Amino acid sequence: MALIKIKPLLKQNMSRLSEILNIPEQILISGNHSAAHDELYFPGANHQAEKDVPTVDTYEQLQLMVNNKQYFDEEWLTKEIIYDSERLEMEIQKLTESFPFVTYHILGHSVLGKPIYELNIGAPDADKLTHINASFHANEWITTSVLMKWLKEYCLSLCYNQQVLGFSPLQLYSQTKLSIVPLVNPDGVDLVLKGPEDLGIDRVSLDEMNQQQSHFQEWKANINGVDLNNQFPSFWEIEKQRKPPKAPSYRDYPGDAPLTEPEAIVMRDLIVRHPPNRLIALHTQGEEIYWGYKGYEPAVSAEVIQLFERLSGYLGIRDIDSYAGFRDWFIHFYHREGYTVELGKGKNPLSMKQFHDIYRKGRGILWAACYYNC
Ligand SMILES: [Zn+2]
Repeated sequence: MALIKIKPLLKQNMSRLSEILNIPEQILISGNHSAAHDELYFPGANHQAEKDVPTVDTYEQLQLMVNNKQYFDEEWLTKEIIYDSERLEMEIQKLTESFPFVTYHILGHSVLGKPIYELNIGAPDADKLTHINASFHANEWITTSVLMKWLKEYCLSLCYNQQVLGFSPLQLYSQTKLSIVPLVNPDGVDLVLKGPEDLGIDRVSLDEMNQQQSHFQEWKANINGVDLNNQFPSFWEIEKQRKPPKAPSYRDYPGDAPLTEPEAIVMRDLIVRHPPNRLIALHTQGEEIYWGYKGYEPAVSAEVIQLFERLSGYLGIRDIDSYAGFRDWFIHFYHREGYTVELGKGKNPLSMKQFHDIYRKGRGILWAACYYNC
């Protein structure tokens, strides 16, 4: 934990502490929301550095400590990670310890009882809310890797107060709260990444839903064989009628009714509780961004998409022939901005060999997702 013991009196002057630590005061205060009265979040201190560190009694002592400070675990911050549900849990712990201005909670649980996490970051008085999610579709798990890597990049740049792609992280932080659900479909992603053996489920029905394929690489659905992104009550009947599967399947089955699946219900409830100003859904693949929905989208979407296009090189597409998706439902009922970003190009699941290229193009969209001056 990046916490040090400090004489409580020193915490009365947070602006002096922020100068010494060279971190924006707002981030320092926010990072200390849960620190005890004699503890201080010390950005850059790592787990090893914390041991054997005596209590800091004076500002001068703190300054000396900063001069010798061990910087963030850069290797961890920049490395490419594949996230099954277990790994995500570990990484959320580490991320929120390293950057205590990020908080998390459990929104609900998947069919197999795995937690569905939301991460939050942003100033308490920020007046915009952006929601970003990843891995609605199981074999699109690389979207979680992209989103988590970007979140680390954002957190680190906040501590250093360094501009990225022309954006001031502190300005974004002050303006926008972020709601991030990095893994909507944990059961499906675990199935694709680890196979069916450890899931404790009936193999016969799983193979049936998978059309007896020898692997699960094409599995998009949740573990009940329902496509979570065909589960929302916006012209659901059209998808129900025209999608080929008439029973649970590894892909495309919209369910017996809208919102039958716990993962879809969790996401619906999140939006109803706090409708965001802007919603971003990360999928693969195609290097395209869908931004309209039957004319229900707001006019500003046509401007924002131009920024996204410029930053990513991806192609904005106003309308596609698809209904009942999470984003579709959101635009339909809230008339607010919603974008489906189809990261990368190739056949799902995309390989981690492409990660660098996907991240390079996609990160600008995530930065711009927090920016509201269009
Ligand atoms: Zn998808």
